[in-house]
Amino acid sequence: MANALETRTNNIINVLQNIQHHPGISKPQLCKRCDITASTVQNIVEKLVDKGAVLSFGQMDSTGGRRARQYKINQEFKLAVSVSIRLNCADIAIVNMGLEILHHTHMEIRLDSAGPESYTALLVEGIRKLIADNEIQIDRISGVGVTVPGPTYFESGTIREIAGAPLWQDFPLGARLFSALNLPVWVDKDAFAGLQYLAFTNQITLDKTTVYITILEGISAAVMMKGEVFRGSNSLAGEIGHITVRRDGSRCHCGNTGCLELYCSDLGIISQYNMQSEGKSQNIDEIIRLAEGGDETAQQVFVQAVRYLVDTTCNVIMNYDPNEIVIFCRWLHRQQTLYFSLMDSLYSKSIFTQRHAVNLRLLEPQNIYLMSAAAAACWQFLFSRSSPFIIGFDN
Ligand SMILES: [Zn+2]
Repeated sequence: MANALETRTNNIINVLQNIQHHPGISKPQLCKRCDITASTVQNIVEKLVDKGAVLSFGQMDSTGGRRARQYKINQEFKLAVSVSIRLNCADIAIVNMGLEILHHTHMEIRLDSAGPESYTALLVEGIRKLIADNEIQIDRISGVGVTVPGPTYFESGTIREIAGAPLWQDFPLGARLFSALNLPVWVDKDAFAGLQYLAFTNQITLDKTTVYITILEGISAAVMMKGEVFRGSNSLAGEIGHITVRRDGSRCHCGNTGCLELYCSDLGIISQYNMQSEGKSQNIDEIIRLAEGGDETAQQVFVQAVRYLVDTTCNVIMNYDPNEIVIFCRWLHRQQTLYFSLMDSLYSKSIFTQRHAVNLRLLEPQNIYLMSAAAAACWQFLFSRSSPFIIGFDN
């Protein structure tokens, strides 16, 4: 059973999340949605308004009477630094609490070239420069959210490992950034933060079980249940990119053979195409264009990728039994006939994967890396138990 402090913390987070997800919500509606008393809602909402985290506004109804006050998150309450680390580059941005990118810089640095200490020093330099160049006062910044392409020890901000960048194993990135910047730092796997971004921007609903599958340079999945990301005990939940789809397949940098992402990720498709055609393509868009133009090898590579994706999506359904699966994949979005064939194959595959069992949805193109990192900062600051804002709420 939760003690008084835990209950208080849960109530604060619950109220904040409901204001975020239902802008314009009233106190009576908050009571109902959060299932807490009117006096508790009153107390929390007044404090949120006093602190500047929430804005109150009111409207007259059609008869000229006063409607209940309405509330929404104050986007200008604080700023956050977001850092999206990828295998071949990094992006740093300053965002507000509405996930608007105010300032942004792109860095061409590779995870596997520099050692993690030198890499982190370059990141710190980039963050300091972005803050200084834009004359941002440090007390306006709530914290730093960092996304990485691999599992982390979320509580400590230490990277567990990154496939393809072995030097980063057990690297305490969160601690290094904290000691350099003296700001709260949250380091998370990119797919987990991506799911929080989708929830933060109401692209998925919180009260359902949703699986998010991201197919980009690599492949990952993340599961949200009742508004919480399910990480597993080692942040490995959803590492579907490294599930074996071909036992006789080529060796993956994770140590396994025939992993899903060797055939279906953007990088996997490029290398499959190059292997089968002796081509030297560097770019997924080029291979999409070739497929659209009738290149049979390119078409075959995509058809094979869809076949493996159907099997994996089927496994995801059996493992998590979600209400909805949302997929972010540029090559599927560009070639919608492949997406329709994926749906047809999946729904006819077994009695457990029929249309009524799960809703499948393809996300619109958006800057998912940058936005996930922005959400890693804002979500943790506003909604996490480790946030200084939540911990110091009643002081
Ligand atoms: Zn692998």
